Amino acid sequence: MLTPTPSAPPRRLAAPGAILLVSCYELGHQPLSLASPLATLRAAGFAPVAIDTAVQDLDDETIRAARMVAISVPMHTALRLGLRVARRVKQANPDAHVCFYGLYATLNAAHLLGEAGDSTIGGEFERPLADLARALDRGQAVAAAVDGVGTAGAPAGPVLERAPWSVPARAGLPALRDYAGFERDGVIVPAGYVEATRGCRHTCRHCPITPIYGGRFTVVPRDVVLADARNQIAAGARHVTFGDPDFFNGPGHGLRILRALHAEFPGLTFDATIKVEHLLEHRRLLPELAALGCAFVVTAVESLSDRVLEKLAKGHRRSDVEAALAALDEAGIPMRPSLLPFTPWATREDYRDLLRFFAERDLIDHVDPVHFSIRLLVPPGSALLDDPDAAAWAGTLDAEAFTFRWVHPDPTMDALQREVAAIVEAAAAANEPAGATFARIWAVAAPGDPVPAPAGRRSRGRPPRLTETWFC
Ligand code: SF4
Repeated sequence: MLTPTPSAPPRRLAAPGAILLVSCYELGHQPLSLASPLATLRAAGFAPVAIDTAVQDLDDETIRAARMVAISVPMHTALRLGLRVARRVKQANPDAHVCFYGLYATLNAAHLLGEAGDSTIGGEFERPLADLARALDRGQAVAAAVDGVGTAGAPAGPVLERAPWSVPARAGLPALRDYAGFERDGVIVPAGYVEATRGCRHTCRHCPITPIYGGRFTVVPRDVVLADARNQIAAGARHVTFGDPDFFNGPGHGLRILRALHAEFPGLTFDATIKVEHLLEHRRLLPELAALGCAFVVTAVESLSDRVLEKLAKGHRRSDVEAALAALDEAGIPMRPSLLPFTPWATREDYRDLLRFFAERDLIDHVDPVHFSIRLLVPPGSALLDDPDAAAWAGTLDAEAFTFRWVHPDPTMDALQREVAAIVEAAAAANEPAGATFARIWAVAAPGDPVPAPAGRRSRGRPPRLTETWFC
């Protein structure tokens, strides 16, 4: 008589849909924060499903089928939306384990873990997510079991070491045409998104990457980046955004990837984010960047006040912005500046100077109007809180809003920010041309003064862009 051998306990989390990955907002890109852990989890024997609520509905049936729900929170907006999803999950499926992962998870762990989150993972999240799934699968207590996973009783710092890389799994995600496209001269084509590096070797004080990566960055293997780009090109991408925090943290690595892509796809265009300091340090590389298909460079100008730039530890001054613009002009690459005009240190005259700078250089159409309204966010753990004067300006933490509630010493600056925010919001809803929006912003910033005019150079025209307006 045969004695039945005890069968292994069923792998509860290996069932299709037992792991649910959710992204809520990734700046209009098909989320790499879904594609990358999808690949890692599949390689580990799981069958996760992924939902991007920016373009898809998340239904209760999908939530109820999940044992582990991992929500990507790479930025502030995603975090606010992600928390709403987590609350929904806890209502519909109270037994599901909810994990927040990404840049903002560790920074806001105290609040998230006291709310709808069971665990958080910061930094390089793929390996810890797979380890978490294995631990839950075995029924292990997460806190005791998984390196890099924080819980209410056992917080964890960010994970910086990388496990082996996988090519992101994009099949099954919404199509590229559901996302922001690349627009040039009125023609819009699908855009892809890759990252050639993660983290950053700089430590700007206002940046959420600083408290997580602490001035470190890691390169994504060239073969992985190229394979990810090829897959998206095969799916229709005619332009690729390099979403590295700073593409010139590793300029040699980035250029090798660009050369290989250009050799294979000569008509492909791309954009990248490069800081002012790097544009000057590597200005000799800019003509090659243009020749390889660079359509524009996003650069974090933030402010033109040297005092504010010093507070932010940006590593550039006003004069450097001028020089970087000249270098890009010479190479024929449009600058798409990102701004941070409203900080506790910026004066009304700083704001007018910023507006004047872009108007006089015919750059109004190069700045998405929302950037003229952006107010400094100070998340828990921000390096700005190390400022010796922080107690005087930072205010108290509004944990639910994930930021310290600072107020400007001049209350009219806070009122101005609110006015400008209302203008750009209404303008975006009405699809107003940037010039008209700019004129209305100028009117509240400098009432009675004429709008500054471009100072004697040929018109720059409307630069190429992504059809998603928020890129900071
Ligand atoms: S702002 Fe840019 S350069 Fe500065 S730390 Fe952040 S990613 Fe790096």
